[in-house]
Amino acid sequence: MDLNLNSMAANSSTPDGEQEESVRVLIIGSGPAGLSAALYAARADLEPLVLTGMELGGQVSLTFAVENYPGFPEGIGGMELVELFQKQAERFGARLEYDLAAEVDFSERPFKVATQNGKHYLAESIIITTGASAIHLNVPGESELTGRGVSYCATCDGWFFKDKEVMVVGGGDSAVEESLFLTRYADNVTIVHRRDELRAGAILSERAKSNPKIKFAWNTVIEEISGNGAVQKVSLKDTQTGAQREEEIDGVFIFIGHKPNSSIFKDTLDMDVNGYLVVDNLMQTNMPGVYAAGEIADPHFRQVITSAGMGAAAAIQVNHFLDENPIPEN
Ligand code: NAP
Repeated sequence: MDLNLNSMAANSSTPDGEQEESVRVLIIGSGPAGLSAALYAARADLEPLVLTGMELGGQVSLTFAVENYPGFPEGIGGMELVELFQKQAERFGARLEYDLAAEVDFSERPFKVATQNGKHYLAESIIITTGASAIHLNVPGESELTGRGVSYCATCDGWFFKDKEVMVVGGGDSAVEESLFLTRYADNVTIVHRRDELRAGAILSERAKSNPKIKFAWNTVIEEISGNGAVQKVSLKDTQTGAQREEEIDGVFIFIGHKPNSSIFKDTLDMDVNGYLVVDNLMQTNMPGVYAAGEIADPHFRQVITSAGMGAAAAIQVNHFLDENPIPEN
């Protein structure tokens, strides 16, 4: 892919004759941070373009119910919340493209972004909101049986486990919340946790402990998942005694945290040891004009509301940046 694009023009072409489009603000990612940035940038008349990535709405779109986003006292479905974010941003002129940033060149302004669908953008400013993806257990059988009983999304796949027995790996809010969701379908949900205490918050933990369909396998890890074409059993190990055992099971849901989707920015932007982009308190990366918001730049809070707030802040800063740093016309 040739990113040697030069001039700044509304609709120009690369030296290879590829069409390129100029935008004032390009938002990479469409989770709460991206769509909030789009809303704020649109209301500042910056006509932002959002590259949605693989999953419109990011991780929250896979969440059955969001109960801690203010303004929805009864809670709201994750996808429903995303649709409202999208509608509100579009109402003020944001545009969404169902495409994925594949390659970036931030060495000079306008910044260059090439997409998986073969589009080329020249952007006066960038807001990165690419979020994070589920971490895998990396045990034998996991990748072969993904989609055949191994899942990272209860909202997507829970229905397939009606009247079945499933295991959920992890002890955080995600594992517990998704276990509670899975009790709608599964006969039994066993939370397999490597310690003897949940990391999840008190309310969720209490709900899980008092749910008759949820059992706990404390101090336990899965060492192997096996089955002929679909999950049939797991090999488990007691983390205290080292004792091993096998159990028959129909499904394994894995919620052991996330890793930031930052690989395309490697060697371009500063990141911490875990790959989270480093931003200052104004959401700016080490590259002036390139901002980041939401989970890609937040290993700590990772909430819908904090991501949305970071997205809004990034867009406000982009507006100031563009005012103070116009690109001279050729
Ligand atoms: P998390 O809080 O990082 O929890 C990950 C869990 O997986 C931990 O219990 C951890 O065990 C376990 N784990 C990690 N690596 C493992 C491995 N290799 N094998 C077995 N177990 C492993 O991740 P999360 O639950 O996805 O939550 C992420 C963030 O989103 C948190 O800040 C959380 O509060 C937030 N969140 C909030 C809500 C809500 O408020 N309703 C819902 C979902 C997520 P240890 O405990 O031993 O480290």
